[in-house]
Amino acid sequence: MITAGQAAGDATARCWSCGAVCAVHFCNACGKVQPPLPVDHFTFFGFPRKLNLDTAALEKEFYELSRRLHPDLFGQADDQERAWSLEQSSMLNDAYRTLKDPIKRTEYLLRLEGIELEEQSRQATEKARATGELKKQVVPPDLLEEVFELNMHLEELRAQKKLGEDDPALLEEIGKAKLSLEEKYDALLNELKAEWAEWDKTVEAGTGNNRRQLLEKMVDVLNRRNYIRNLLRDVNEAVES
Ligand SMILES: [Zn+2]
Repeated sequence: MITAGQAAGDATARCWSCGAVCAVHFCNACGKVQPPLPVDHFTFFGFPRKLNLDTAALEKEFYELSRRLHPDLFGQADDQERAWSLEQSSMLNDAYRTLKDPIKRTEYLLRLEGIELEEQSRQATEKARATGELKKQVVPPDLLEEVFELNMHLEELRAQKKLGEDDPALLEEIGKAKLSLEEKYDALLNELKAEWAEWDKTVEAGTGNNRRQLLEKMVDVLNRRNYIRNLLRDVNEAVES
């Protein structure tokens, strides 16, 4: 992985075709595609690693580069340049897809910064679901009571369904709990954005004292968000089955 500084250094390299000092993706002088650099998604677009990203600028840059990398433009190009244009296109699409989505962007930054997300735990959750075991996910402390009550209601609902019974009051209770969870789920995006603002400040200031702490806070928000998402899935399954 090349850092932004190195990539910026490479940007002043010479064009393979005309020898002019060229830009990152294309030569400014002759317009030829340059060999792709193994850069991260932020660097690909020339952005700093900030999370509050100018999505309008991202989109504009994406469409501009897509247009210039369109395969039709390389019909007459030599094999090497065509291969580079395809490679750049694929990097462009990956980078755009990842950065435009607030959650994917955050998860990507966390990985870049060396934080492993709880992928294993997610796998464990899937496995537990498949085998019908109890999930070993940790309940976020602020949800303990709510989750306990909801799970009781879901158990009751499943039992009633087996007996072919119908209890509108129970369904209403579950519906209320679901609504409350959905509100919390949405609120977590705002909580995440507050952490973004703190993170961006440290990037701007170039300081690193509380970086790790901020990243861990983001992981915590994402974990709580995932927890609620899984719970809502359980609720929907129980109600619709
Ligand atoms: Zn050139």
